Amino acid sequence: MQAIVLERPGERLKPATLPDPTPRPGQLLLEVAACAVCRTDLHLRDGEIDAPKLPVVLGHQIVGRAPDGRRYGVPWLGFTDGTCHYCQTGRENLCINAGFTGRDIDGGFAELTVADERFCLPLPDGVPDEQLAPLLCGGLIGYRALRMAGDAARLGLYGFGSAAHQICQVAVHQGRTVFAFTRPGDVRTQEFAQSLGAAWAGGSDEAPPEPIDAAIIFASAGPLVPAALKELAPGGTVVCAGIHMSDIPAFPYEDLWHERSIRSVANLTRDDGHEFLALAPEVPVVTTVTTYPLAQAEQALADLRAGAFEGTAVLLA
Ligand SMILES: [Zn+2]
Ligand SMILES: [Zn+2]
Repeated sequence: MQAIVLERPGERLKPATLPDPTPRPGQLLLEVAACAVCRTDLHLRDGEIDAPKLPVVLGHQIVGRAPDGRRYGVPWLGFTDGTCHYCQTGRENLCINAGFTGRDIDGGFAELTVADERFCLPLPDGVPDEQLAPLLCGGLIGYRALRMAGDAARLGLYGFGSAAHQICQVAVHQGRTVFAFTRPGDVRTQEFAQSLGAAWAGGSDEAPPEPIDAAIIFASAGPLVPAALKELAPGGTVVCAGIHMSDIPAFPYEDLWHERSIRSVANLTRDDGHEFLALAPEVPVVTTVTTYPLAQAEQALADLRAGAFEGTAVLLA
């Protein structure tokens, strides 16, 4: 099969011909129809998060077809032990022996993949492959982050990419007011956010028209944490939704005072996946995608790094 592999972080992804994967008992062999690109793929490519298995096939937002024709989604959570303290208490996202798709397990930047059937998600019918793929990380980990924002009526989204463009639609559907924060001066993305229902959009250096009850930070810039904290109403929460972030600068305790809190969100549980994939068609979440042939994976990552497109990049095998 044709695949795109990461041999060494910091270097370009390389096309490779690999042996077709053979499913072990309990695994599904899937023909990859579409695989969305996530900022985590870029962090792995750039060496900002650790890639313990090299070479590795990146990609953890896979829409694949099994030999019987059924369509499955393969998300980031690829394996858990089911026995550790976290698994036993409904927090398999924190499993101490978790294996992640496209990092510990070869992922979807390939024509074929194998995945543990217990972690594959059934997908809604009637939506094209490339429209569904972004739901599988940006959507469902974004949705987990939205849950951590509690019942916040006024929600700030910092970094308006793959996750935020979906979660904005969900939040508006739930009756929340969304304020979208982009890179200063990024008018195109601000207009995109407003087209998806954001009540206000501006630069991350601007103050929203009123205080916010929660902020979700999807961007990987640590200085956004104290910036968001400054805009929070008392009792509000800043949720950091990314796997990697640059250092968070010091800030006055006064900004945290009045029961404001800062927390992170890590990975997903299968329940998150089932819940979000059931909700998405009801909203409905409509994804904005830019498609690339599999061979142009490196270009897709470069365009993500540069902020060259709105929404999500999706590779088509
Ligand atoms: Zn991801
Ligand atoms: Zn576990």
